[in-house]
Amino acid sequence: MKTITIETPLVSECSVIECAYNLNRNCHARAITIGEGVHPSCDTFFINKNHTKAAMRPAGVGACKVAACKFNDDFECMTENIQVGRSTDEISCLTFAMR
Ligand code: SF4
Ligand code: SF4
Repeated sequence: MKTITIETPLVSECSVIECAYNLNRNCHARAITIGEGVHPSCDTFFINKNHTKAAMRPAGVGACKVAACKFNDDFECMTENIQVGRSTDEISCLTFAMR
């Protein structure tokens, strides 16, 4: 397998415990994608009867499509870390801030 090394913001907390990537309120997807149109939802969220086994793997923000956020530069997140959780019934990046 060919690999790349990249720097990404960390997903420091996610309260969406039903997501398959969530263990103990932490995300363990390798790199999540944020954004669906103008809304900062977590595009990587999905339900599965099994949860990831990668309890030591940190999660990063691989891409973010929400250009309206002040932390977004060229469709990438440039802050240090983000939190994810429920906001008005959507699973969202809670760190989102309008420009
Ligand atoms: S950040 Fe997204 S992919 Fe990660 S556990 Fe939360 S909802 Fe799932
Ligand atoms: S903080 Fe802003 S730029 Fe970063 S993932 Fe959340 S919505 Fe996207």
